[in-house]
Amino acid sequence: MENLSFEQGPIRPPNEAKSLLLRFTRNCPWNQCLFCPVYKGRKFSLRTVEEIKKDIQTAKDIADDIKALSWQLGQSGQVTDQVASHIFSSSNHSDAYRSIAAWLYYGTGACFLQDADNLVMPTKDMVAVLEFLREKFSDITRVTTYSRSRTIVRKSAEALKSLKEAGLNRVHVGLESGYDPVLKMMKKGVTGAQHVEAGKKIVGAGIELSEYVMPGLGGRDLWKEHALATADVLNQINPHFIRLRSLRVPDRIPLFKLLEEGSFKMQTDDMLAEEIKLFIANLSGITGIVTSDHIMNLLEEVSGKLPEDREKMLEVIAGYQEMPDTDRLIYRLGRRGGAYRSTEDVKRDPATYRKLSNLIRELEAKGGKEEVERFITGMVDQYV
Ligand code: SF4
Repeated sequence: MENLSFEQGPIRPPNEAKSLLLRFTRNCPWNQCLFCPVYKGRKFSLRTVEEIKKDIQTAKDIADDIKALSWQLGQSGQVTDQVASHIFSSSNHSDAYRSIAAWLYYGTGACFLQDADNLVMPTKDMVAVLEFLREKFSDITRVTTYSRSRTIVRKSAEALKSLKEAGLNRVHVGLESGYDPVLKMMKKGVTGAQHVEAGKKIVGAGIELSEYVMPGLGGRDLWKEHALATADVLNQINPHFIRLRSLRVPDRIPLFKLLEEGSFKMQTDDMLAEEIKLFIANLSGITGIVTSDHIMNLLEEVSGKLPEDREKMLEVIAGYQEMPDTDRLIYRLGRRGGAYRSTEDVKRDPATYRKLSNLIRELEAKGGKEEVERFITGMVDQYV
């Protein structure tokens, strides 16, 4: 049993780290976005209903086996610390076995369907596998998937409702921008108007909608238009969640070429703070949640419920902007290196502050301010 396995894809959103991961399709049917490294060089394919059902059955068999083990260990079928350490301390268990153990241990009841655009599946096939999933795991509380706006606009309202009835609760969409010239430049393959239409359709079907926005995608030339048009598109949709995931450009993504040529210029962290301020200030009529739960974001505390937390979010940004230059640099270094999560940490922890100051002095001695920036960039880009 411990060698049983099923297929899993390469990524899931940060908030699905403790979810059951099941792969419904492979890779991305579009695969052209210049800023996206995830599926480049990999071919998209649909999986058959039989293949996916087999994976779900395997996941269920593993879950049953783990629960039986728990009873044997006197843990009443629960995946306690003792059960988890029994599984994780042995090298005999497959990755799939371990991931089911971790899922049961955390007890989120959530399931995330991989890969990039599952609504591209024929609706009747997706309904069939969702129903099978709900039948096998009757205690799952939430089923979420990624999809593209271009795919969603092609689905009828009835099709989306049948997916909701079969058990799909939430869809993550990579909106990235609402500004057409930016969407075009980045080869996103969708317009702002299509984002609005798709978003409204998902919400209209009673499915929760999570929109990913990419601060920085307009570069230095189009940052204002990008921020304003993106806020405008979201205002028309009123999604349940807006998730910020700031642009990074490591050398393995296609956008890096434009950066090298000079036709795209990256926003600095300070410029991004100003862009996000403009974006948040222009969200209106939205009653959802904003989160910055991605490690690539500089200011994780720009999060809260709209409209009541808007001022709090703007204050976080203002707090960063008002820091003395030295402290701002220390915060950026600490945040990117994982030492800080809040701008307040800069004042709270003198020992870390001293260490980071020393590191900055060493880097500057080696190659001036540019060396500090290179070091920070290297640290953030490792997460892309
Ligand atoms: S649609 Fe999504 S997964 Fe596909 S290339 Fe674009 S960003 Fe990447």
